[in-house]
Amino acid sequence: MSHQTSPQIAPEQRALIDLSIRARGGIVLYPAVWLITALWGNISELNPITFFVVSSALLVISILRTIHYLLLHKGVNLNFKFMNYSLVALILAVAFLWGGLSAWIIFHSPYLVLKYPYMVILAALGIGGTGVLSISRIIGITYPFLVFLPSIFSALIIGGTENLIMSSLAFLSMVYILEASRATRQDYQDAINNQFLAEERARSLQEVSITDPLTGLKNRHFFNGQIANDWNSCCRTKLPLSVLMLDLDHFKKLNDQYGHLAGDECLKLVGEMLNKEIPRSTDTAARYGGEEFVIILPHTNVTHASLLAGKLVKAIAQLNFHVDKKHIPIKCSIGVACVTPHHSESFRTLLMAADKALYQAKDQGRNRFCVAE
Ligand code: GH3
Ligand code: MG
Ligand code: MG
Repeated sequence: MSHQTSPQIAPEQRALIDLSIRARGGIVLYPAVWLITALWGNISELNPITFFVVSSALLVISILRTIHYLLLHKGVNLNFKFMNYSLVALILAVAFLWGGLSAWIIFHSPYLVLKYPYMVILAALGIGGTGVLSISRIIGITYPFLVFLPSIFSALIIGGTENLIMSSLAFLSMVYILEASRATRQDYQDAINNQFLAEERARSLQEVSITDPLTGLKNRHFFNGQIANDWNSCCRTKLPLSVLMLDLDHFKKLNDQYGHLAGDECLKLVGEMLNKEIPRSTDTAARYGGEEFVIILPHTNVTHASLLAGKLVKAIAQLNFHVDKKHIPIKCSIGVACVTPHHSESFRTLLMAADKALYQAKDQGRNRFCVAE
């Protein structure tokens, strides 16, 4: 018998999804910036091989990133590590390509017209890319290096005052961006960890609020909601709904004779037994009150409900309950009621019928079940 809520997404899983969402703009951005600047600078005619290689590489990476995005967001169940590292690798591949391309355009190529636009683009992509994608530690640390280092090195190699100043400024910017990305990553991690903890706490509170602390079965509060749901669902499907009302026999005597703690142990044992004997996930076993239990059996006719009631009477009589190594026999009485529900009636009639049948079983001498008419 299980009434489970949907599983919670772990922080790492959520970080991957967030990274994928944050990175999706780059799928179009990088190829678009490249095509606009390449056409403007006439690179396709002056340097067709470079144009072809860069365009093809960006196209292939964008296609792979699109496939990755779709697989992740369509909920395809793939290995988490593979999905994480492949996304990081694809993002870093673009950073690597872009870093090299910028160094070439700014310092080596004959495309003077592109020099200053590329300096601006390089700074914007370096800051923006690192800031947005720094959720991933590897990207937060590696991305600025891949974007800025090629330009810094080529400026140093070429030399000259202007280039030296440029490379120093680029280096300082890179250090600042690295530090900013570390702080951003920390903020993000704190936020999702706190959110995860809050959700976990809410779930455990929710679980506590519907569980009987002594037996671990569902409590009366949960039962009240569940019986209404099952009643409505059986009204729609026009299938029978059965209820078993189970009460331990002469429990007061047991308490009086062996103490309340022994009584509690006995209730726990009964709870464990019910959990084991009622494994169907759609059935509900709950502690109704004191030493009374109730079992809801949706889509179950009176024959099957009676079979289960007989099985439970037997199982309780066979419970291995000991106080000070002395075996104490436990007995119970059960009232069985079954109906094919209709919207015009209330589930209370079914509960009242089961209760009446229970008292009949008590009247007839206990340790048995009775079926309501
Ligand atoms: P019957 O066969 O007619 O059901 O007799 P009974 O003694 O079982 O019925 P009664 O309703 O008179 O007594 C129920 C007892 O269950 C009284 C109460 O002290 C005890 N009880 C209720 N809740 C708990 C609990 O949580 N722990 C323990 N140990 N006893 C409980
Ligand atoms: Mg009783
Ligand atoms: Mg009772």
